[in-house]
Amino acid sequence: MNKAAPVLLLVTVGLTPLSLNAQRPTEPTLPPPSITEYRPESTLVVPANEVPRAKFPVVDFHGHPGNLTSLETVERVVAAMDELNVQVMVQAIPSSGTRLTRQIDAVRASGYSERFVFFASLDLENVGPGSGARIASQLREDVRNGAVGVGEIQKSFGLTTRKADGSRLQLDDPELDVVWETAGQLGIPVFIHSGDPPEFFEPLDYENERWLEMALFPNRQFNDLSRFPSFDELMAERDRLIAGHPNTTWVLAHMGWHTQDLGRLGEIFDRHPNVHAEVGAVLYDLGRQPRFAREFFTKYSDRILFGKDSFRPEEYPYYWRVFETADEYFDYYRDYHAFWKLYGMDLPEDVLRRVYYGNALRIIPRISTLGFLDN
Ligand SMILES: [Zn+2]
Repeated sequence: MNKAAPVLLLVTVGLTPLSLNAQRPTEPTLPPPSITEYRPESTLVVPANEVPRAKFPVVDFHGHPGNLTSLETVERVVAAMDELNVQVMVQAIPSSGTRLTRQIDAVRASGYSERFVFFASLDLENVGPGSGARIASQLREDVRNGAVGVGEIQKSFGLTTRKADGSRLQLDDPELDVVWETAGQLGIPVFIHSGDPPEFFEPLDYENERWLEMALFPNRQFNDLSRFPSFDELMAERDRLIAGHPNTTWVLAHMGWHTQDLGRLGEIFDRHPNVHAEVGAVLYDLGRQPRFAREFFTKYSDRILFGKDSFRPEEYPYYWRVFETADEYFDYYRDYHAFWKLYGMDLPEDVLRRVYYGNALRIIPRISTLGFLDN
């Protein structure tokens, strides 16, 4: 009965089954190139507007410029920031205790203290009874020493970090409640990276959009349920964590890994006014949905923050171009993130200002407003 059904259907709409594919050979007549060999060059000629420098001064909420302990490093990073119009960088590399204070001292001594702010990391290894109070007290000390936020909390939290009893440390483990409450009392944001792109949690088959990246980097494969939680399980833990601490300011790194489904992030924004999101390393998704992303950025313009993640100065202009122009079908900088082209979102100026610096200045009041006043 099942075999007969399609034939009957085709007869009723007047098609003969063979006519659809008669003109197209099923196999190429030459050996096909591999996924790494095929690099078609676009022949499309359209207006192109490179944007080497952001239109407004920027706070990079997700900076990984290396340890800022020497004058040479600080000067090299500041020179790159000046070119790009990045006025302030959040040092998001895990730093606490002396590792944090050494950097704060070095930046002060360099004369560039208004160009950097520092976040404090948390020691989440081997959590057991009493760990929460100990971590919270270290956080208070780091903040006294100059830290203005928590983070970046690494993806290992939730994926691989173990408790003292050997079990996986879940994102909403109650032992850590006191830490998140402390951040809320101190009035500092918690910048958290949870999970990774959802494709990394899916089977590595020929339908997976991140096949190449997962094959290049086997340590980005989180699809073994005997070792890792599923993507949705992890996100459910994160959502309970957020819901449990409404007085804490949360910033989800990488837009919570929901850029392939912005509506899901929108629901989180709608439910939790204390949640924000940062755009690092997800440009490939924004640039393939420029109209919907523009609508989303406009609707939630007070929730989205610029951040770059890996510190490669030559990559920042791709962000400026996607956010500021209406350019079409241009290359992205990393082929294993995306095999497709990008389009500009053409964001309105007031949205750009909030994403580039306004929201960061509101969340981190201790950022000097000096470089932003005349804009
Ligand atoms: Zn990061």
